[in-house]
Amino acid sequence: MENIYNKTIEELEKYLLNQDVKAFHAKQIFEWLYQKQVNDFHLMSNLSKNLISVIKNDFFIGNLKLKKKEEDIDVNKYLFELSDNHLIEAVLMKHNYGNSLCVSSQIGCNMGCSFCESGRLKKVRDLLPGEMIEQILLVEQDINERISSVVIMGIGEPFDNYDNVMKFIRIINHPFGLAIGARHITISTCGLVPGINKFALEPFQVNLALSLHAPNDDLRLKLMPIASVYKLKDIMQAIDEYIKKTNRRVTIEYLLLEDINDTEECAFELINLIKGKNVYVNLIPYNVTSNKNYKKSKKMQTDKFYDILIKNKINVTTRREFGTKITAACGQLRASEVEK
Ligand code: SAH
Repeated sequence: MENIYNKTIEELEKYLLNQDVKAFHAKQIFEWLYQKQVNDFHLMSNLSKNLISVIKNDFFIGNLKLKKKEEDIDVNKYLFELSDNHLIEAVLMKHNYGNSLCVSSQIGCNMGCSFCESGRLKKVRDLLPGEMIEQILLVEQDINERISSVVIMGIGEPFDNYDNVMKFIRIINHPFGLAIGARHITISTCGLVPGINKFALEPFQVNLALSLHAPNDDLRLKLMPIASVYKLKDIMQAIDEYIKKTNRRVTIEYLLLEDINDTEECAFELINLIKGKNVYVNLIPYNVTSNKNYKKSKKMQTDKFYDILIKNKINVTTRREFGTKITAACGQLRASEVEK
């Protein structure tokens, strides 16, 4: 038995053909799953009884359970339980232009960034496409509204689970699936060069964000162990190559940590690193956690950093803060729940 949400429409068509069933039923099944969002094959009223019994033999519809929800004005935080009892989380951000969901791609994370809560718990396993899709479906059902954009920035490193994440994107992007436009999907990586190279060849217009967080390798290594494997020179070369191939602008995420990477020197070093590239910088306020080694940059320092970038003609925005009242940093809710 397999979770039917793992299947792309092409895979379903192939499966149906193997059962001597016409391929067009895959489209009907997709509509039931993603547009009408039924959770019982018997409700798929345009499928024959015979076809339903065939499908029911091989598939079930989803197995993710909503375990806990925390609410703030503009943000909901969801904790989900998987069929093997592990926990993952997703964060809903309510913008005036629509609902955006931050989804997890792995149970835990092996990248070990020192400021990040997700890495406190090592990776247990990768998430399957269906387990990522169900995060969206359960949240849509909870709020009774559509999710219009998806960011793969929850627990996990998406390029460490490349194939499942790509399949997930293809299913939610499909017009008979959730029909979430590629330009409304963003994948964020800590800088796995082979992943960036592969992603540059994908045929869709999904956004790429790079978690840079430091303008040189020495500082980056203090924050992100992965910096010992992929040097900034190689990462930036992969980004250049990606921009050349896709003609798409890349987001550079830069988390501001007080007295660590928020100095004027860092700002100028960052400018030198990215000047002339088709990128824009997203300055991220640190979501304070129980980790005593890091403090959020002061407003004055954040503004100064921002101004230096602007004056040097770098496109820059500061990320709006969500859910400071609830445990909204990636991995925080899960970490606190597991440690209980
Ligand atoms: N592994 C991927 C995606 C998950 S992390 C990546 O590294 O990009 C998503 C983003 O949240 C990353 O930029 C990460 O560095 C950042 N992040 C992690 N902990 C944070 C915290 N406490 N406050 C603010 N941002 C954080």
